[in-house]
Amino acid sequence: MKEITDIIVIGGGPAGMTACLYALRNGKSVVLIERNGIGGQIAQSPRVENFPSVDSISGSELADKMFEQITSRGAIFKFGNVESVEKEGEVFTVKTDFDTMQARSVIIATGVEHRKLNLKNEDKLIGNGISYCALCDGAFYSGEDVTLIGDGNTALQYALLLSSYCKSVHIVTLFDKFFGDASLVAAVKKRDNIKITHSLRLVELLGEDELRGLVFEREDKTRVEFPTKALFVAIGQMPDNHIFSGLVDLSVDGYIASDENLRTRTPGLFVAGDCRTKKVRQVTTACSDGAIAASNASTYIESSG
Ligand SMILES: Cc1cc2nc3c(=O)[nH]c(=O)nc-3n(C[C@H](O)[C@H](O)[C@H](O)COP(=O)(O)OP(=O)(O)OC[C@H]3O[C@@H](n4cnc5c(N)ncnc54)[C@H](O)[C@@H]3O)c2cc1C
Repeated sequence: MKEITDIIVIGGGPAGMTACLYALRNGKSVVLIERNGIGGQIAQSPRVENFPSVDSISGSELADKMFEQITSRGAIFKFGNVESVEKEGEVFTVKTDFDTMQARSVIIATGVEHRKLNLKNEDKLIGNGISYCALCDGAFYSGEDVTLIGDGNTALQYALLLSSYCKSVHIVTLFDKFFGDASLVAAVKKRDNIKITHSLRLVELLGEDELRGLVFEREDKTRVEFPTKALFVAIGQMPDNHIFSGLVDLSVDGYIASDENLRTRTPGLFVAGDCRTKKVRQVTTACSDGAIAASNASTYIESSG
């Protein structure tokens, strides 16, 4: 059997990478498992302006710095999708699509994923006109007119980014206002090439193989059709924690419950970041969670011999 790692961290976002940093500083061996790109959601942010001591930085640069910091201190990175976690005796077994690993403690830091529209043909149109990531796909629509659905900080950040190289950005919101930071709302309202329409519900995607338009419903249930070749969707996020349900308690909306030490109901299994029940989901709170979870995981390992 392979060597047993002290701590396996699942998820390479800010929470998972900070957990690695604190575990390493406590002298623990650490394996970090990530199924997509390093950095999690923040890698999709064009500009982060609320990370203490850094005036402004792109999310991917911030993620790269975190990754460099932990790998240079000895974190082992494994690419893979964690498919199951089991505990037998004092040892956890973590299976990915590539590998099986064992650890004395596990920290779940799986974050959240984009919420989908749940409209007919949506999956077929992803990459063919529909995108959930302006930073990843926005440049494909340089010089074109694009539509954006959403009313929070992510939507506002996407609008600012897209308006810097698209001909126009039409933001459509479900309610009659934005729910993001006042500074972002003000910046969006200042841009001449951003048009805002409130109180419309998207009810239909037009186009079979490529997006060609959108059908919205007004409050009085009448419908209006907009032609568009590009739709960016920023309507929130949701967790994907079902694989851990045998070992943790989940809230009705799928977030992992923990105490203030970020312990789950299984001894040795901790949780950190956006994937857990909490109110403020940001980089700083994810990092804070990572520090708490790794410190307590280290204490758990030391006290269980
Ligand atoms: C566009 C955008 C802009 C944002 N801007 C800001 C900002 O300016 N300031 C700010 O503070 N916050 C911002 N946020 C929010 C911030 O990015 C998140 O709060 C933060 O990234 C949460 O960190 P996390 O580590 O908990 O989760 P995540 O960043 O979601 O990372 C979780 C990681 O776990 C991986 N994972 C999930 N399941 C598995 C599995 N089964 N196996 C292996 N890996 C798995 C995912 O691939 C992901 O990489 C923004 C978010 C977005 C989407």
